[in-house]
Amino acid sequence: MFSVMAVAMDISENEVTELYERLNAEAEQSGYHLNHDVDFTRDLVEGLIINERRYGYQACPCRLASADKEDDLDIICPCDYRDPDLTGYNSCYCGLYVSQSIVDGENEIVIVPERRPEPEERRKAQSKSAAFNTSENVIPVWRCKVCGYLCARYEPPEVCPICRAKKDRFERFGPI
Ligand code: SF4
Repeated sequence: MFSVMAVAMDISENEVTELYERLNAEAEQSGYHLNHDVDFTRDLVEGLIINERRYGYQACPCRLASADKEDDLDIICPCDYRDPDLTGYNSCYCGLYVSQSIVDGENEIVIVPERRPEPEERRKAQSKSAAFNTSENVIPVWRCKVCGYLCARYEPPEVCPICRAKKDRFERFGPI
């Protein structure tokens, strides 16, 4: 899927293997699963490496990124939509992550509809969150937008202990 670009970007098989193995280990540690179709999954991993080089972050390999990290935060892999898609469709939009029932052969992968809101809707949600973040003198509650993990502390953690999403994927959730 990405091989022509990969040649242009000089991405080695070893790089793909390294990221594939890391993502696989992190997924299993956190209760998630990569798609067991290894060739397909490696293509997606290669797409993540390409996007990392192109934009400086691992934007979703199945979506068109804007090259503006703030604007693309919701589609940095794992995206904000992975968990609801796993719950509703047994796989993420790209099919990189799949549910236990797919691993067990109880369900098949189906086409997952795009649930990312239109840019206007995303901007509205971002400005609501920014206004909330200005409240002071309380211990804030932070929510991982990827997996929903909550914690009360002055700053969000560097890495979500559940799904390994980075600090910038947390939003202020409370106190309400
Ligand atoms: S988790 Fe989200 S960003 Fe990552 S591959 Fe799947 S759909 Fe794309």
